[in-house]
Amino acid sequence: MLDSQTCLVTGASRGIGRAVAEDLGRHGAEVVVNYRSSDEAAREVVDVIESEGGSAIPVQGNVAEYDDVEAMCETVHDEFGRVDVLVNNAGITVDKKFEHMTREDWDRVMDVNLGGVFNCTHCLFDDIKAAEDGRLVNISSVVGQQGNYGQANYATTKSGLFGFTRTLALELASSGSTANCVAPGFVKTDMLETVPERVQEKILQRIPLDRFATPEDVAGIVRFVAGEDAGYMTGQILAVNGGMEW
Ligand code: NAP
Repeated sequence: MLDSQTCLVTGASRGIGRAVAEDLGRHGAEVVVNYRSSDEAAREVVDVIESEGGSAIPVQGNVAEYDDVEAMCETVHDEFGRVDVLVNNAGITVDKKFEHMTREDWDRVMDVNLGGVFNCTHCLFDDIKAAEDGRLVNISSVVGQQGNYGQANYATTKSGLFGFTRTLALELASSGSTANCVAPGFVKTDMLETVPERVQEKILQRIPLDRFATPEDVAGIVRFVAGEDAGYMTGQILAVNGGMEW
């Protein structure tokens, strides 16, 4: 159980973030449901958590904007006090073959997928350290391990998280807090819907378990990493990819 742990999940209005937020709420955490634009969806997530007896608040904020993240953290501190668990989940894709990728396409993905991770972790670093058994959980991807056609920008951000996580694991270690990566394979969310059906069929052929992941498949692993049983594991990459090689 995550009783009295405050967990902030970025990009929690939909997809993997939503499943993680609901799952953490179901297991006793106080959950901060961050979102960028889907106000109604974020409120729905909070309603689900509250209807199951949990506690949650929605907090709008573009993780790519440092000022937004600072304001979000202030709201959270007023409401719940210290954040014990940060799940850096918010992420976007702007897919194109590299030869057609513009510098703007590159920067947009960097700003959210790595800039957002910097901003949230920087603003909450002291909290996680002070928690002593705090948790930093970064959502990477099998694409960061394997690369993927048309995703040079995205793959770079997702493998960048490995070096970031490993370093934060070292810098948090003296406090007893941990940093780990969860690297999902291909998960049935809006993000996967942007991939053409024929490409999805090809991907499926590469998954030994012969199905795409559900957001809940990932949420259970995040809960384990966030929980007390994972206290001696740090700097690791947990692959949740149906057996894909990397
Ligand atoms: P999704 O369904 O597209 O949902 C993305 C979430 O991130 C939404 O809640 C969105 O909020 C939020 N978001 C996007 N940009 C944001 C920003 N600048 N600030 C705050 N929130 C922002 O994505 P998903 O498939 O659940 O992916 C979640 C994470 O898992 C991402 O990091 C992704 O790279 C990773 N991942 C996904 C897959 C996959 O196959 N789906 C596989 C491996 C890893 P709004 O609704 O308000 O826009």
